[in-house]
Amino acid sequence: MLSKQDISDRILVQEHFAKEHLPLDMSEAQVDDYKQRIKALLKEKDACLVAHYYTDAVLQQLADETGGCVSDSLEMARFGNAHPASTLVVAGVKFMGETAKILTPNKRVIMPTIEATCSLDIGCPIDEFSAFCDAHPDHEVVVYANTSAAVKARADWVVTSSIALDVVEYLADQGKKIIWAPDKHLGSYVQRQTGIEMLMWDGACIVHDEFKAKGILDIKKVYPDAAVLVHPESPDSVVEIADAVGSTTQLINAARELPNKQFIVATDNAIFYKMRQAAPGKEFIEAPTGGSGATCRSCAHCPWMAMNGLESVLHALESGQDEIHVDPALITDARKPLQRMLDFSAALNQG
Ligand code: SF4
Repeated sequence: MLSKQDISDRILVQEHFAKEHLPLDMSEAQVDDYKQRIKALLKEKDACLVAHYYTDAVLQQLADETGGCVSDSLEMARFGNAHPASTLVVAGVKFMGETAKILTPNKRVIMPTIEATCSLDIGCPIDEFSAFCDAHPDHEVVVYANTSAAVKARADWVVTSSIALDVVEYLADQGKKIIWAPDKHLGSYVQRQTGIEMLMWDGACIVHDEFKAKGILDIKKVYPDAAVLVHPESPDSVVEIADAVGSTTQLINAARELPNKQFIVATDNAIFYKMRQAAPGKEFIEAPTGGSGATCRSCAHCPWMAMNGLESVLHALESGQDEIHVDPALITDARKPLQRMLDFSAALNQG
C-alpha cells in the first residue's frame, strides 16, 4: 500500500520528466494529414517504412500501420531485405541506412535526414581505426553495428548487442585475440561477462554514457519495487545495478516477462512506445542522466534519432533526396562480416 508521501513523490517525478519532452508541435489534424500523405506516397513509390525503436512514437506507429517494421538496426536491415518494396525509407541514423544498403544493394534506400548520425560512428574514423588494426595484425577485428560502411569493411565480424557475447566466446574458443570497437562500455560488459580480454577502442554513445547509478538509486527509493532495465552501452556502475541488461529487443522482452509493474529504464526513452505495447498496464520511468542539481534530470533521447519526424519523412518521399549511396567495393567488403554475423545468428537459433 502506497503512503501519501510515496504517491506525491511519484507525481513529482512524473511531472518533472514530463516537462523535459516537448510535445510534437502539431495539432492532431495536422498529424493525421501528414500520415495520410505519407501513406499515399509509400504506396505510390513502392516504398516501405522501417523505423528504429528510438524514433518518435508517431513514426513507429506509422511504420506499424503501413506494414513496415519497428525494430533494432539488424532486424530493420533483415526486414528491408525480405520486403518486396523497391524503396526502403529508413527512419533512424546513417549507419542503419548504410547497413540496409549493404545487405540490399539492389534497392533504393532513403532516409528522412542523412545528417542523423551516431557518436559511436563519428568516434571511429576509418583512417585511425585502420591504423589501429594494422598495428595488431594477429587480432580478429570485431565491430559493433554502429559503425560506418568503411569500418565494417575493415572488420572480420560485425555484432549487435544481442549477439556480442556469443560471438566473442566463439572466437576466444578458437584461440583468437580480439580487437573490439567502438563502444568501450559494451566492450567492458562483454569482457566482464565472458572473462575474455579484448583490445578496446575508446568510443561511447552520448546518450547511454550519461546515465548515473546514483540517480537511478535515488529513483529506486521512490519506486522500490521497480526493476532496473539497462542497455550495455551504459557505464559499468549503471550495468551493475541492473535487474536486466540487454539489447533494445531484449529489454522490451524483459519488460513483458519480468513480474514487476514498474521499470526504471536506462536507454533511449522512445523505446517506451514499444514497451507499453509489449507490457500494457506497466509503468516506465526514465533513468536520470543529470546530477540532482542539474536543470535537466534526464536527456535520454538521442539528438540524431530526434531528427526523424513526420515532416522529414514526407520530404524524403517527395524529394527523393537523402538517398544512401555506398561504394560498390565497400558493399562487397562490408557484407562479409555482416553476413558472417547473420549466419552465426541463424546457426545459434537453430542450435
Ligand atoms: S542512441 Fe547512442 S548509439 Fe544510438 S544512435 Fe544515438 S548516439 Fe548512436
